[in-house]
Amino acid sequence: MQDVISRQRAYFDTNVTKPISFRIEQLLRLKRALEQREGVLQEAIAADYGKQRYETFITELLPVYSEIDAAIANVAAWSTPSPVASSPFTSPGRCYVMPEPLGVSLVIGPWNYPVQLTIVPAVGALAAGCTVVLKPSEITANTSAAIANLIAEAFDPAYVTVVEGGVRETSALLAHKFDMIFFTGSVAVGRIVYQAAAKNLTPVVLELGGKSPTIVAPDANLPLAARRIAWAKFLNAGQTCIAPDYVNVHRSIYEEFLDALAKEIAASRYGLENHNFVRIVNARNLERVAALIDQRKVFTGGLVDVDQRVIAPTVLRDVNWGDRVMGEEVFGPVLPTLVYDDIDDVVSQIKQRDKPLALYLFTEDAGTKRKILSDLSFGGGAINDAVVQVTNGDLPFGGVGTSGIGSYHGEAGFRSFSHYKSIVDREALTTAEEQQFRYSPYNDDYLKIMRQTLGIRPG
Ligand code: NAD
Repeated sequence: MQDVISRQRAYFDTNVTKPISFRIEQLLRLKRALEQREGVLQEAIAADYGKQRYETFITELLPVYSEIDAAIANVAAWSTPSPVASSPFTSPGRCYVMPEPLGVSLVIGPWNYPVQLTIVPAVGALAAGCTVVLKPSEITANTSAAIANLIAEAFDPAYVTVVEGGVRETSALLAHKFDMIFFTGSVAVGRIVYQAAAKNLTPVVLELGGKSPTIVAPDANLPLAARRIAWAKFLNAGQTCIAPDYVNVHRSIYEEFLDALAKEIAASRYGLENHNFVRIVNARNLERVAALIDQRKVFTGGLVDVDQRVIAPTVLRDVNWGDRVMGEEVFGPVLPTLVYDDIDDVVSQIKQRDKPLALYLFTEDAGTKRKILSDLSFGGGAINDAVVQVTNGDLPFGGVGTSGIGSYHGEAGFRSFSHYKSIVDREALTTAEEQQFRYSPYNDDYLKIMRQTLGIRPG
């Protein structure tokens, strides 16, 4: 691994990654490689967890293509130094901020969207002019191998390379010095990555998880809320970091909402018999998610097929915070629903816990929207929808508190892999004011003049 990293450092030090033309060429190369190997990626994902081709396209490939296209279109603008106004001590002179690539970067991916969540951060890195070591999740082993082949065929490993493996290999990578580490995964491993990065004071982006709440207010359009919540929850069989983890529903509409949800699940033909429904990634996760289903609280679903690794879309009713399902991120197709009477109680419950990665609110009431958006802190979210915030590349994507540090997508991704260098560029000339006010000997009259000039009132 030392050899891989040293070669990348030497390559970066040649400055070859810095011209915008080079970056665009490499982004195009990545796009071509993905287009050519789309079939292989599709098969690998299907082999890993039985995902249907269209779902794979919209959740794994489309986000990568969109990110590459946006980077190609905008990298020149993002890289252009931006001027700022001069201050008394820098005037006359030109002040500006110029982005520069951080250097050799490490991207560690999770298994739940194994292509998107490994390649999209890499697009930000390449746009910024960094070199990249990618470490896909070992749990989706077929996809990891497909990504490794694709990258090896398209790129010089001194520029972009894949290291495959699990805890042992990732730990070995983290023992080395990188200039930037981008991690997506669990909060527990996020802490390990942060500690490893701290040894070298390496900047990080941590894209983590947690329980993302959804609130359905009494005035919500219930059929639409049920439709969008069911889609967001059961997409990828609930193995989505920003899926609605649980739903708080106002008592006055609780039964009606549950019925709408059940109707939606039936109509969408999510379920055990439906070969379109994504598998749980492995037996361990299947067992973990199945154990969160309290059969006494099942409103619909509740069936587990261990051999097929499928859990039927499950809605739990009358759940409360003491239930086991509320003790951890569900990360599977099980949706606990909680009844509320007063929205202030919902706000207070959410505030007592870790800041979520996402929050969704279904209401058309402006006051309710204002209240939730101003009272609660969370990574990002949607009103009258769920999950779709991730599809707009102009919206920075990331968590807050334990749900993450930093953000990416579009320019935010470019920024995360860049250092913004502040520059003052002055003529080699001096002015009378500079002679008088900058250099000693100093004099109390200057203090008065300076305060007056700057509008600082006498104390
Ligand atoms: P994970 O933390 O188990 O694994 C993520 C990566 O870390 C993998 O590449 C794995 O090989 C590596 N890893 C695992 N244990 C390690 C260790 N001890 N030391 C070093 N590296 C280690 O996460 P996961 O199970 O792949 O993904 C699920 C979690 O990720 C959920 O909590 C989910 O919410 C979160 N997630 C967050 C986002 C986001 O964008 N914020 C996206 C997807 C998933």
